[in-house]
Amino acid sequence: MRAIVVTHGHEDHTGAIHHVLDEIGAPIYATPLTRALLEAKLNRNAQTKAGLTTIQAGETLDVGPFGIEFFHVCHSIPDGVGLAINTPQGLLVHSGDFKFDRTPVDGWPTDFDKLAELGQRGVLALLSDSTNADKRGWTPSERVIDAAFDDVFRRAPGRILIGTFASLISRMSQVAAAAERYGRSMAFVGTSMIENARIARRLGYINIPEELIVPIDQALGMKPSKVVLMCTGTQGEPSSILGRLSSGTNRQFGVESGDTVVLSSHPIPGNEEMVHRTINRLLQRGADVIYDAIAPVHVSGHASQEEQRQLLQTVKPKHFIPIHGELRHLKQHALLALESGIEPENIAVVENGTVIEFRQGRMSIGERIPGGYVFVDGSGVGDIGPSIMKEREALARDGFVMVHLQIDQKTGRLRSTPEIETRGFVTLRDADSLLAQARTRVGEVVAAAKGDDLKSRLERELGKLFYAETRRNPTVLIVLSER
Ligand SMILES: [Zn+2]
Ligand SMILES: [Zn+2]
Repeated sequence: MRAIVVTHGHEDHTGAIHHVLDEIGAPIYATPLTRALLEAKLNRNAQTKAGLTTIQAGETLDVGPFGIEFFHVCHSIPDGVGLAINTPQGLLVHSGDFKFDRTPVDGWPTDFDKLAELGQRGVLALLSDSTNADKRGWTPSERVIDAAFDDVFRRAPGRILIGTFASLISRMSQVAAAAERYGRSMAFVGTSMIENARIARRLGYINIPEELIVPIDQALGMKPSKVVLMCTGTQGEPSSILGRLSSGTNRQFGVESGDTVVLSSHPIPGNEEMVHRTINRLLQRGADVIYDAIAPVHVSGHASQEEQRQLLQTVKPKHFIPIHGELRHLKQHALLALESGIEPENIAVVENGTVIEFRQGRMSIGERIPGGYVFVDGSGVGDIGPSIMKEREALARDGFVMVHLQIDQKTGRLRSTPEIETRGFVTLRDADSLLAQARTRVGEVVAAAKGDDLKSRLERELGKLFYAETRRNPTVLIVLSER
């Protein structure tokens, strides 16, 4: 591995790096903001020896046989780049996460000239962000949020709490601007939010006047109508600030009636249920909750179909590889490329880990490098796999039953009545008759037992009984002691 090139500072692009750094000791290249956000993350994990190098949009980097040109792309975080990778086989263009926002918050639009120039040079393959391949039209400019914030700030009777990702740096600027317009002070809540805001301000990516910002303890003592708090937790994560506020377990402060909570983000696919539960709980606590289905308090940072089409038409690649999205997004993006005139055999819809080879200008799909999700659990990385996750799901869904039996070594008979304990399986009320049946069944199985597969036979028989009686599949654990 020659290098890790990071296109921007979002969590889904930087979050795994500290977990794999020990295995992949490659140098890391990133723009100043991306680098600083990544460094903060590495420092938190005491990984200070990572080899980080700052690169800038407009610069070129030589890595092995590759010459990588960086060009600016607009996204929902400043300092994002796309890559033009010169290879011995031809020029590859990687879009990074992008949109074509003509009025971006940081005033720095996507480098269209560079894209046009690359198109003229001839591009062997384009790898492009597919996140919004199923969204028609254009993604609205981040600017539309300003008007939505105006609406919220004008009406909110008390405190305003804005939830977003800690890496959504542009949103911080927009909240600060709204706070300034409506005479509120602003406080950042939560370690990552405070740290990222500090980094972005220090490097000049966001410009928030000093007097606008107050520490959280001071903000809590101020008149509610004079403050806005920015915190994390828009995905319903129980341990985040909004998650804790919704469950009433945040130590420093709680949600009160009169508070207005704004979720300035969109649920990541799969998180919808948790997000909606958080919204409901916040409403139960008396807060007013505003989210993107109600008002445009969030816009996507990714290109929609018309922008994706424009990129294809500007870069005019010979081959097309949709990236960054689920398979359904990649497929949809491929259709768009087909419409834009790319030959069907020159489009590769592949999932992560698939090798794509270019030889004499021809593309072929190579082997799949084994890989997939690596679970991070507590301090362990990759030490639990899908089988453990399956066990946990089963335990969570159906609970477990533990059967303790003492067997007489000589006679092979039960020395006493089996003890049965359950967790998360049946209520005590229902347990009596069911567990009596279970004890009887244990007795029968033991009496009929021959050979040494008693444990698995008991598990199987009890599993059948429990399923027949309850339509549930608890995990059955047999503890045998022979004396
Ligand atoms: Zn991103
Ligand atoms: Zn991304």
